Amino acid sequence: MKKFTYLFLLIVSLFVYIVSCTEDSLNSDIVPDKSTVQKEHFCLDAYLPNDIIQPQDSTQDVIANGVINKFNKWNTGQTIKIKFLNGNSYLQNKVKQFAGEWLKYANLNFEYVPAYQYADIKINFDNSGQSWSYIGTDARSITQRIPTMNFGWFTDSTPDYEFSRTIIHEFGHALGLQHEHQSPAANIQWNRQKVYEYYAGEPNYWNQAYVDSNVLNKYNSTTTNYSSFDSQSIMLYSIPASLTLNGWSSGWNTVLSEMDKRFISEQYPGRYTYVETKNFYRYNINGQHFYTSNYNELGNKHFEGILGKIYANQVEGSYPIYRYYNFLNGDRLSTLDWNELKNGGQGGWIFEGISGYAFNTQKPNTIPVYRFYKSYKKKSDHLLTTNKNELKIWISEDGSLVLGKGKSYIPINVYRYEGIAFYILR
Ligand SMILES: [Zn+2]
Repeated sequence: MKKFTYLFLLIVSLFVYIVSCTEDSLNSDIVPDKSTVQKEHFCLDAYLPNDIIQPQDSTQDVIANGVINKFNKWNTGQTIKIKFLNGNSYLQNKVKQFAGEWLKYANLNFEYVPAYQYADIKINFDNSGQSWSYIGTDARSITQRIPTMNFGWFTDSTPDYEFSRTIIHEFGHALGLQHEHQSPAANIQWNRQKVYEYYAGEPNYWNQAYVDSNVLNKYNSTTTNYSSFDSQSIMLYSIPASLTLNGWSSGWNTVLSEMDKRFISEQYPGRYTYVETKNFYRYNINGQHFYTSNYNELGNKHFEGILGKIYANQVEGSYPIYRYYNFLNGDRLSTLDWNELKNGGQGGWIFEGISGYAFNTQKPNTIPVYRFYKSYKKKSDHLLTTNKNELKIWISEDGSLVLGKGKSYIPINVYRYEGIAFYILR
């Protein structure tokens, strides 16, 4: 009887959430066709009584993405045992497939065991309309035949984006993650009255206390690890613009965001190293080109486009992009070859620093940056482009110039081809 009471308490301590999501992927398989997404499904997240969210000063403004409860984390490198209490093999395989997305980044392992064996995470399928999960290791305190994660709207005809957003989201909870919109770093300008009205209506019917603890209250910054607010996070609900004072909204997130990957890899380190990249911008200042990885340097003035991405830090096989300025003729040069100009000082060249890092040979997902040079009326210019056709000349696959073929000509007094400067990320 005592045991029953405890379980009953656990069940009544479930809190109801709505989760829905923004497309942030180019993968059409897992991006919903908005015309078919009419009704939002529920994500009911489960908390043990001691995890009930305490209100926190909502005026706090912390800019820090991702939220994890420090006390509910698994051990890094741990194998988490998972079993299905029911469900057909099609649905079970979908769960395995999408749950596995986390394992690309988190240093954890999943072992699926038969229903009669001990498991940490117990998965149930039903048609209750409610999907939920306990947070992290809380699942271990739930008795073996009772689910710790529920999927309440899956059928064999559920589209992949729906499997993706729901399964990845619930497994985020199972790994200890909490909701992004309640992060200590979230600074959503809620229209509180509208929020109460929205969740009081169909199909939630929440009272104010439920809305407070599930939507409006922030997690305590002392019991959670978190970083900056991430509007692309799989752990963020959809938030209609009508619920915010400043018109901010969030749509359907159906895949892991870059910050989700980074955050979980930092919480369970050892498998994945997040590498920061930045855009490499090209500007044209009265016919002379300028290159930078810092958009704020010139903003949209003279802006021509983004050549691609470069690494913010040196990764294996990459080299610094040295940046130079020539005060005599206004030329600007970006090169991987330190020996070309070294510290500058000759012929008006000044070494300005390192823009970022790129490759000197083709790697997966990279594109060549072609380098051209011209000098005219005491000025000179180095042109970098990823578009072979920009100067209407023909460059072969190995980067060498081919004359007399196709559109292959170099107009007199225009640019001279100098070769491939480096390879940058698409
Ligand atoms: Zn949730």
